[in-house]
Amino acid sequence: MKLDVTSEARLVGLKASFLWRLRVFFALAAAIGWKVTITSGRRSAAQQNRLHALDKRNPPAGGSSHEQGRAADLNATKAGVMLLKATPKPVWEASGLPFLMKLCGLRWGGSAFSTYYDPVHVDDL
Ligand SMILES: [Zn+2]
Repeated sequence: MKLDVTSEARLVGLKASFLWRLRVFFALAAAIGWKVTITSGRRSAAQQNRLHALDKRNPPAGGSSHEQGRAADLNATKAGVMLLKATPKPVWEASGLPFLMKLCGLRWGGSAFSTYYDPVHVDDL
């Protein structure tokens, strides 16, 4: 399933087996009414270092699955509800999206990291 043009541009360079899982996830999310948009996909080392400089919870270059094309960050909307980085975990969980990620063999950033709640992140690690 294809997303909006901007989101599709951000999927360029992702590892094929990760992208296949993401596309199944997008279709399942759409089936329960969620519109997914991609805010970040594959990153260069320089891009990763800039994010690390802004927020030390983001790993420096060499430490992110985004650099390997194995991660994406996403937001989702449904009936006026927006799921963003600042959205509390119970709201994300109630959306069903973390469950669908797991079903697709994806790892949700809202529960993947012991010291960093990053619910917009999904990867195949
Ligand atoms: Zn991420």
